[in-house]
Amino acid sequence: MAKSAPTTRVPISGKKTPAKASHSTTAKTKQASTARKATTSKKDSSKKKPRGKTEAEEPYPTWAAPTPAAAVEAVARLATVHGLPSPPERKSILDSLVRTILSQNTTDKTSAVAFARLKEGLPTWSQVLDAPEGVAEDLVRCGGLAEVKMERVRAILRDDRVRTDGEPSLEWLHERDDDEVKRVLTSFKGVGPKTVACVMMFTMGRAEFPVDTHVLHIAKKLNWLPADASREQAYEHLNRRVPNECKLDLHILLVEHGKCCAKCAKNGKLQKKECAVDACPLVGL
Ligand SMILES: [Zn+2]
Repeated sequence: MAKSAPTTRVPISGKKTPAKASHSTTAKTKQASTARKATTSKKDSSKKKPRGKTEAEEPYPTWAAPTPAAAVEAVARLATVHGLPSPPERKSILDSLVRTILSQNTTDKTSAVAFARLKEGLPTWSQVLDAPEGVAEDLVRCGGLAEVKMERVRAILRDDRVRTDGEPSLEWLHERDDDEVKRVLTSFKGVGPKTVACVMMFTMGRAEFPVDTHVLHIAKKLNWLPADASREQAYEHLNRRVPNECKLDLHILLVEHGKCCAKCAKNGKLQKKECAVDACPLVGL
């Protein structure tokens, strides 16, 4: 049911892209195809606009940027420097949700270690529930806030919607529409809209565009958002304007770029000095 990312990739223009940028097109055809895709997408947002995406409104209805073409162009340009992202590894929805809960208030690297230790020490979610008090906490302690985070994880694991017949699972959400998935995931304590958007995009293959600090900062620099936009407003605006087909790639590339480009990094600080970018490909976009 999950849409596979590779088949929905938008063609990018050639240049000296590392990996797989072999399907090059001219600028004109690229724009035409972008426009077509933007209007014929399966998950056409104008049709489903809908109820569940609920109260959330477009905060900047007259702000015309980014255009679909600009979003596609940004992917193409960033890919020349960082390469096109590989499709995300397959994980269960519950694993993905717990992983993001463990990543709160810490770095990706540290939370990855915490999650790996938890899975190694208590390989199944039933074992996490049955373990004596403090065992799971000790396993994830390196990520900080171990008690708070594990309390939230246990509350999710005990939830009737998760604790089905056997092993706790949320895989049934693959069969449900975006609105219901959002309703269910946000109903868990400690699970905010960004976590939900990440789980839906990376793990469920849904057309979501999570906004983190790098995405927000660069989108403002590109004038895709008003300078005072909050993360929530940015999410509502960009999610409507970025074509579904390039959401995953654009999100991953902007996050990577925000860590490697002195021009685009927040406060000019590079989080990944080892892959510092010489010339910012977004200049002039
Ligand atoms: Zn840059």
